[in-house]
Amino acid sequence: MSEGPKKLVEVERLRKYFPVKSGFMKTNYVQAVQDVSLHIFEGETLGLVGESGCGKTTFGRTLLRLYEPTSGKIIYDGKTIFDKEAGISEDMLPYRRKMQLIFQDPSASLDPRMTVGEIVGEALDIHKLYQGKQERQDRINELLTEVGLNSEHSNRFPHEFSGGQQQRIGIARALAVEPEFIVCDEPISALDVSIQSQVINMLEDLQEQKKLTYLFIAHDLSVVRHISSRIGVMYLGCLVELAESYELCAHPIHPYAQTLLSAVPLTDPEKNRSRKRILLEGDIPSPLNPPSGCRFHTRCPYATAKCSESMPELKEYSPGHYAACHMLEGK
Ligand code: SF4
Repeated sequence: MSEGPKKLVEVERLRKYFPVKSGFMKTNYVQAVQDVSLHIFEGETLGLVGESGCGKTTFGRTLLRLYEPTSGKIIYDGKTIFDKEAGISEDMLPYRRKMQLIFQDPSASLDPRMTVGEIVGEALDIHKLYQGKQERQDRINELLTEVGLNSEHSNRFPHEFSGGQQQRIGIARALAVEPEFIVCDEPISALDVSIQSQVINMLEDLQEQKKLTYLFIAHDLSVVRHISSRIGVMYLGCLVELAESYELCAHPIHPYAQTLLSAVPLTDPEKNRSRKRILLEGDIPSPLNPPSGCRFHTRCPYATAKCSESMPELKEYSPGHYAACHMLEGK
């Protein structure tokens, strides 16, 4: 019997709260990620979308344990690397090689005092991934070539490059340790539209060549739809819908996902004109004081009394299609 695709990353009820001092002896918490559960299959790209401030970047970083989780469980390749309840908190150094991050703002993520060779070579040094000086330089040159740069760029500084080239340097740095899993945190949102597609195509080519698994975070659903096999939608720290890309884009079932989809331009101008765009009232509430029950209830056109009382659980409504909404329960 076939076992189906392997789950490389599994996350159960991951939560991340940041303490904030509010007055004398009083601490409040920014509830950035609220009990998110999902898994990422080996070799796939899972897209994660939502408005800015919805917790998707915090989720990616907490998953990599660049932020220590407040609670929940993280399993990587079958091994539990964090489980608050069971008191498991593995040393992450060996996992840093396997799990990497590509940052949103390439210029801010590259040390301006280091040459490109030093930036890319730093990870090789930390993990001792070469035998001698020549092998180190050969590996740096190889990585630069893989991302569309060349060995002459090795002695230059980040400010001498365009935004797109800086992001290529960031990608070479992530690839240096030969990772299996990469969190791509809005990797193209700081780039010109003209070079966004080049970087996306390069990420897709690298994925195929190196059998990489991606968590691709973005606020632009049209980009995520292009690169992802499945898509998760987040709202105010919660995962509200998760499905195959095609299924989610064709049949979104959560009211918030329907709103996001209605804002994505269609390729057919006729359909685009006739389509009704769903507009939400009000601003996204503060994660410092999120609404009770379903966090979307203050803006949801279908909200009932139950929605403000209890938080809906993420449930599977058709194979592989999950959503968290009281309105769907019993369907
Ligand atoms: Fe809207 Fe209620 Fe569903 Fe939340 S649970 S999305 S408020 S209908």
